[in-house]
Amino acid sequence: MERLGYYNGKYGPLEEMTVPMNDRVCWFGDGVYDAGPCRNYHIFAMDEHVDRLFRSAAALRIEVPVSKQELKDLLNRLVHEMDTGDLFVYYQVTRGSGLRKHAFTDTPANLWITLNPAKVPDGIKPIQLVTTEDTRFLHCNIKTLNLIPSVMAAQKAEEAGCAEAVFYRPGNIVTEGAHSNIHILKDGTLYTHPTDNLILPGIARAHLLGACRALGIPCREEAFTLDQLFDADEVLVTSSSNLCRHADMIDGRPAGAKDPALYERIRSWLLDEFRTATK
Ligand code: PLP
Repeated sequence: MERLGYYNGKYGPLEEMTVPMNDRVCWFGDGVYDAGPCRNYHIFAMDEHVDRLFRSAAALRIEVPVSKQELKDLLNRLVHEMDTGDLFVYYQVTRGSGLRKHAFTDTPANLWITLNPAKVPDGIKPIQLVTTEDTRFLHCNIKTLNLIPSVMAAQKAEEAGCAEAVFYRPGNIVTEGAHSNIHILKDGTLYTHPTDNLILPGIARAHLLGACRALGIPCREEAFTLDQLFDADEVLVTSSSNLCRHADMIDGRPAGAKDPALYERIRSWLLDEFRTATK
C-alpha cells in the first residue's frame, strides 16, 4: 500500500478511508497525537513516542483504547503492509464519538493511524525561518490536536518561502517552532528552552541533548530571547520528521551558520544514531 489509513481496527488506502462525523475531534479537536519516522521498516524511537502519547492522553483524561505494547505491535504490523519502509508514522487518540456536548462523552476513545512515505533529510542544507508571536495556550507540553496557531504560523512561513516559524512570547522569549523545537549554539554552548508548559518536549530535542552530552558540548536548558536568536552562532531546528537542521536566515536577515564545524559534529552524530537504529 502506498498510503495507509487506520481507524478503530479498519484500515485501507488512506484516500478511501472515512471517519464518523461525530468523532469528538471534529467538534473540539478533542484528542492527542504523536508521530515519528520509520526507516527500512524500523520505527525510530517508538518507545519514546508511545510513552509521550500516553502522557498526553493521561493529561487530558483520555483512556487510550489499547496498551502501549498493543499499539507498538500494531504499528510494527502495519508498516509491513507498505510499499516502502521509509515512512512517517502518525497516530492519534480522540475522546470517543457522540453528539456535540463539551463535557466528556461516555464512549471509548478512537484510535487513528496514518502511514505516508517520507524520508528524513540529512540536515546539510540550511533552512530559512520567520518569527511570529506565540499566541497558543499554556499547555504546549501536551501534544493535542488543537493546532490552529501552528497552522497559521506554518502558513506564514510557507508564504515567506521559509521552512519553519519561530514562536516568541512576551519579553521576546523564543519558545519553539510551529512544528519543531528551536535551539541556539553560542560560544560552544547549546541553549534550549526548558521543558515546561510552553513547549513540547520534543523527542528529537532529547536526542539533540544526548548528542551534545556524547560530544562534550555544554547544554543550558534556559530560555533565550529573539536578540540571542539573531546573535547566535548557529540556530538549530529539531523535529522527528526532519531530525536536525540549521538556519542561515531569519525574517529575511542573515542569522546563524557561523559555527558550521560544531553544527556538523552534532548533525552527523544524530544522523549516525538514526541510521544505526534503523539499519
Ligand atoms: N514542537 C512542536 C510544537 C511540534 O509540533 C513538534 C513536532 O511535531 C516538535 C516541537 C518536535 O517534537 P519531536 O521532536 O518529538 O517531533
